[in-house]
Amino acid sequence: MAKELVAEPDLKFTQDIIAAGAGDLKKCYQCATCSVACRIAPDNNPYPRKEMIWAQWGLKDRLLNDPDVWMCHQCNDCSIQCPRGANPGDVLKAVRKMAIQENSWPSFLGKLVGSPALFVPAIAIPVVVVLLLVFANQGFSFPQPVNYGKFINYVYIQVIFTAALLFAVVSMVLSLKKFWASLETNNLVGGSGERKAFFPSLIEALKEILPHTTFKECQANNIRYTSHLLVFWGMIGLLVTTTIVAFNIDILHIAPPSQNGPGTLPIKILGNVSAVSFVLGLGIMLIRRLTAPEQTGGSSYFDWFFIFVIFGTGSTGLLTELIRYAGSPGGAYVLYAVHLMFVLALFLYLPFSKFAHLGYRTVAITWGKSSGRNLKFPVLPNFVPAAEPKLVEDGKV
Ligand code: SF4
Ligand code: SF4
Repeated sequence: MAKELVAEPDLKFTQDIIAAGAGDLKKCYQCATCSVACRIAPDNNPYPRKEMIWAQWGLKDRLLNDPDVWMCHQCNDCSIQCPRGANPGDVLKAVRKMAIQENSWPSFLGKLVGSPALFVPAIAIPVVVVLLLVFANQGFSFPQPVNYGKFINYVYIQVIFTAALLFAVVSMVLSLKKFWASLETNNLVGGSGERKAFFPSLIEALKEILPHTTFKECQANNIRYTSHLLVFWGMIGLLVTTTIVAFNIDILHIAPPSQNGPGTLPIKILGNVSAVSFVLGLGIMLIRRLTAPEQTGGSSYFDWFFIFVIFGTGSTGLLTELIRYAGSPGGAYVLYAVHLMFVLALFLYLPFSKFAHLGYRTVAITWGKSSGRNLKFPVLPNFVPAAEPKLVEDGKV
């Protein structure tokens, strides 16, 4: 007979999950329809049923170190099929948010990004920094013809934005390292199984993630696959564009695309196609969230903060260019400054916002490939509660 585990419910943690957007969690009666409905859950230890009972019991260590919450692509097939309206998709989403906060380094930034009460300070930081950059150059004047380098010195931008990006990369690496260590400590069945090396496992994971092959299997909300793919590749295109522009300006001393430097047409095409893909994908996500919440699941502050920052980044980037072509230098400068505020927020908060799911999911899938997903905890929990629960029948204990 399997060894019994004594479960010590942490009701505070259950309340935290509910507060993070899983308001229907307690309706679950463990029928397992969700695990059957999920097309991407493996036969061996499927999800999300086991996560539902862990969440009801407030098993914090188990949930925050569970690789399976990251295998989920939040398609909500399970929530649509759940006969009790317990919305398991929302529960996994809430746990992902809490895992990001738990692993964040430095931890106060995890709280800053995840808390609606801290929205104003979170936004004030990039706003103040960009305003200082404008002021440090030559005050709030609009040189004509439009030359962004005269409005905010490119050197200031390079120093501040490179520092923000480096900070984000270091923070992300440290957070993911902690996450990997917690996966190792809390999930492997002791001493069993061959391990695959990290890099081959990572390559295998990337082969799955880049074309979104697993995500494509989800059914009820497959438009989400398309919009996610558009955002994902749009973002990669924008990253490549920014890197090339920075390389051209800094190393090759070529004028930026806004000044029609030589050979910048392909960069403009790449940048614009990527921005359109990015904004289109986000637009679809946004419309679906507003018009079909039963398929997209509930939207928490954490979701909206992320959408606000990335939609702001993509749309102000496009609008800056359009307004400049439309011959409105003042508008172009203002939008350019707003665009930089969004980009700085994106960089600074990358490891602490929903954006970080990219890193966590990659790590969890890589860990699964490397370990063979040799999970310690069974599908059917064999718990005994720390205190024997009392049965209540006909109002009598
Ligand atoms: S979440 Fe819904 S479908 Fe899944 S076990 Fe609970 S009641 Fe059943
Ligand atoms: S939201 Fe989709 S991927 Fe996630 S557990 Fe439910 S059915 Fe599976």
